[in-house]
Amino acid sequence: MPEPTVLALDVGGTKLATGVVGADGTVLSFRTVETAVHEGPDAVVGRLLDLAEKTLAEAGHPEVVAVGIGCGGPLDPDTGVILGPPGLPGWDEVPLARMVTERLGLPAYVENDATAAALAEHRWGGWGVDSLVYLTISTGFGGGVVIDGELFRGAAGQGGELGHVVVDWQGRECGCGARGCAEAYVSGTSIARRATEAVELQQRDISAPGVEPRTPAPSGPESSLAGLPVITARDVAEQARLGDDLARAVWDETTAMLGRMVAVIINVCEPALVVLGGGVTRAGAFLLDPVREGALRQAMPPAAAACDVVLSHHGDRAGVLGAAAIALHRLDETGREAP
Ligand code: ADP
Ligand code: ZN
Repeated sequence: MPEPTVLALDVGGTKLATGVVGADGTVLSFRTVETAVHEGPDAVVGRLLDLAEKTLAEAGHPEVVAVGIGCGGPLDPDTGVILGPPGLPGWDEVPLARMVTERLGLPAYVENDATAAALAEHRWGGWGVDSLVYLTISTGFGGGVVIDGELFRGAAGQGGELGHVVVDWQGRECGCGARGCAEAYVSGTSIARRATEAVELQQRDISAPGVEPRTPAPSGPESSLAGLPVITARDVAEQARLGDDLARAVWDETTAMLGRMVAVIINVCEPALVVLGGGVTRAGAFLLDPVREGALRQAMPPAAAACDVVLSHHGDRAGVLGAAAIALHRLDETGREAP
């Protein structure tokens, strides 16, 4: 029997990505488009599938046996229904797997995007380790866990939802409704929002009532971010690197929080590797170095000695490779369950 080829769909808060992927992790074709989340789930899924059809054509219409889909949680991996992720407003009870199967006529499997990417790092990352934790720092912030070669899902299928580990119990409100989650600090969305708040505070030069400025707004020269119509996490990284005090304060708070959180993960899971991926990791060593240093310094010494913190090599394709790994994994599981 030929090795299976799968279609991989990655639904992010900023971009949609589709790809055709072989069983050895070779990406035969790959495309991305803006999510435009304000259009709502029907329109977004429609464009996702249009894009998928282009990727299938570009790969030469290979025989595809299944579709893997990575999406922000919460979601139900058994039914393939999306359950209102903070990064996808309006996606309440969206039967994503069914919608994909109806249009493409193929079995479709949904999994948390970071869980999926963790599996892809284990299969194809080239790390040669059995236990790893993957963290995606993108529009949102999520995690996935592979322990002793097995994907960790938990009893409800949401296990390893590390974006909602609390780093400050009285902290900022998170999109999930709780306070002080890591996602409320470390996601691209939060980096941008905290910088925007800090610029507003600097311009007003007061402590605004009702606002909880946990990030100091330096009173020095006006931030170079102030002139931008919209501030993104990428702008914050770039200006911090160029020496802007305000951008630097937001960036340093982010890397400090992340380093502390990774130390906790290292203590709890004792992975051999913590892999960082997602759009914000395009900042490269400017992100990795302080996070790695903080994490390995603050974790328990034996756990820290057995672990390293690295950047994914999968780049923009991390989501698609994750979705592909899930499709192949579920096909294996289904095969094992068959009589
Ligand atoms: P998605 O969440 O849709 O999967 P990405 O993984 O591309 O999308 O993440 C998008 C986030 O990455 C945005 O917040 C964006 O500002 C941020 N980003 C993109 N490039 C950089 C960069 N060079 N440095 C820091 N952040 C970046
Ligand atoms: Zn949360």
